[in-house]
This record gives sequence, C-alpha cells and structure tokens, in this order.
Amino acid sequence: MSTPAVFTVEDLRHWKGSAPLQLAVLGDPVAHSASPPMHMAALEACGLLHTYGRIHIRPEELPEAMRLLKESAFIGVNLTIPHKTAVLPFLNAVDPHARIMGAVNTVLFKEGRLTGFNTDGKGLTRAIAEDFGVDLGALRVLILGAGGGAGRAVALQCALEGCPKITLVNRTREKAAALAEEIASLPGLPQPPPIVTALGADSVTLSAHLEATDIILQCSSVGMKDGDPSPLPLRFLRREHLVYDTIYSRPTQLLADARTVGARSSNGLSMLLHQGALAFEIWFQRAAPVEAMRTALRLFRASAA
Ligand code: NAP
Repeated sequence: MSTPAVFTVEDLRHWKGSAPLQLAVLGDPVAHSASPPMHMAALEACGLLHTYGRIHIRPEELPEAMRLLKESAFIGVNLTIPHKTAVLPFLNAVDPHARIMGAVNTVLFKEGRLTGFNTDGKGLTRAIAEDFGVDLGALRVLILGAGGGAGRAVALQCALEGCPKITLVNRTREKAAALAEEIASLPGLPQPPPIVTALGADSVTLSAHLEATDIILQCSSVGMKDGDPSPLPLRFLRREHLVYDTIYSRPTQLLADARTVGARSSNGLSMLLHQGALAFEIWFQRAAPVEAMRTALRLFRASAA
C-alpha cells in the first residue's frame, strides 16, 4: 500500500474540485504522521475508494486551508499539532465533548458544514479497556507530563470518565496546578467529583500518591529520544501498578522498568489506533476495521524504527 506524499496549501489552491485526496491529516510538522497508513488500510479493508494523505499546514495557513478543503469536496480531516485549538473558529459546529476538551482532532465535512469532534480522550478510554481489561473511570490515576497537550487531554478525559483520584505531575508545577483548576470548573463532571492534586516532578509526596494509584499514564515527551531516562524513578514502581506510556514511536525506559517490577504495561499505539477508529466511525457512520488499522500501524512503526 503506497502512502501519499506530503501536500501543502499551494497544492490546495490548485485542486479546485479535483483533489487527489478526500481525507487528510493537517499538521506542522506532519511528514511522520502514522495516520495515512492506518486510514488507508481502513479504507481498503472496507472497499472505500478514497485517499487519505498528509498536508503540511503552517499556523498562518490554517484559515485558507480550511476554506479550500471545504470547496474541495473533502470528507474529513484530522488535526494534529499545532491546529487542535486553532481550528475552532473555522467550524460551523463543535460536538459537546470536543467543546469541553477545548480541542478538535477530527472534522466532518457534510453538506457544506464543518463539524468538529475530539476522539483523543475516548481513544484512550478504549485503549485502556482493551489493553488492561479495566474501566478507566474506575481507576485512581497519576498523570506524568500533565503540563502538555497530551497530558491535558488525558486528564480531562479521566475527569469526565469519573476517575475518583487524579494526581497531576509536571516538571513545571504551575501548569499542573492550572489544569487542576480547569478540571474543578468542568461542566457536567460525574459526582462525586475527583480528588485532584497537582505536584511538581520532584515533590516529596509523589511516593505517597503512587501508593494510592492504580494506573500511571505517561504523557510527557521524556522517552521520545534515544537515551532518555524514565520520567519516574524505578523505586516508585509497584507490581500492582498498570503503566501506560502514550509514546508509541519507540520503546521507553519507563516500560522497561515496569516489566522489571512485574507491572502490566502498554504503549500509546492503542490510543492512536482507537482515536483513528473513532474518527473513521464519524466520517463513515460504520464500525472501523480495527484489526486492519492495527496491523498497518505496527508495520509503519516497524518500518520507521
Ligand atoms: P507538549 O505539549 O510539548 O508537552 C510536553 C510535556 O512533557 C510537558 O508536560 C513537559 O513539561 C514535559 N517535559 C518535556 N521535557 C521534559 C523533561 N526533560 N523532563 C520532564 N518533563 C518534560 O507535548 P504533547 O503534545 O503533550 O506530547 C507529549 C507526548 O505525548 C509525546 O511523547 C507524544 O508521543 C505523546 N502523544 C501520544 C499520543 C497517542 O495517540 N498515543 C497522542 C498525542 C501525544 P513542562 O510543562 O514542564 O515543560
């Protein structure tokens, strides 16, 4: 299966109703996105003769890109960094869940209207159910990297799922504290609301919070690079912890340490898979061919390693 090249806003200007794509991921950068092989596998498995590609859109190009895509009979797009919040003003409607998350990763183009959705959080819920056989909302969670975009989406999803205890850990504590305040003011939180604590990564109370944690959700970018340490010292890990590292591009020290202590662990490939499957369901109103998508993701990861 061939993966289309990376297109630009200049390409969009020339398509005028004869676009070579009907679906795409928009980002900056976008060249290494795993979404095209995953969605091309899904389309092929369902016999849908559409093409999903990558479009490199810089922040200042987003308004024009959304207008041109609307004119190009697109079915939908995914948005990645840095467009998930910036796209909101260009949509005709935003699904209530995406409105609460304050970010959109999936857009449906239908009858001249653009509707935004967020499948990242729900993708995580499905991933945790699949990988560990548990309901995320029943777990006491500790989130590492609660100051970044992924940490924010994961924390909001945990709150909406009804997690009883949410510990937000971040190198820059102020960002975790701001997120804790945001969670406290979320509309429609399940009752009773979660007990939310914000900690710096070097907090002396980290150990005590980990004793009262069921699942560690690693959302920082520590582990992305060769030789990166684990963001959590090995001594804090327990056999009883579930450990989920949202990084999927490479094996991480945290997951190696989890195996060392005998804890169950998993990487972010399942979250990527399920956010994609949910996007496919929004575009085509049918169940996504999850196994075909999973196989394509594994092949893509192996070829990129
Ligand atoms: P981001 O917005 O740049 O946030 C980076 C986070 O990592 C911040 O919390 C930052 O802390 C922390 N951090 C960075 N360097 C650190 C260091 N040396 N020590 C301690 N903390 C450090 O990035 P993002 O978009 O949230 O992405 C973060 C990770 O999520 C990436 O690894 C990505 O692979 C993963 N992700 C996975 C999926 C999936 O579908 N599986 C989806 C999205 C993202 P400060 O606030 O202190 O700077």
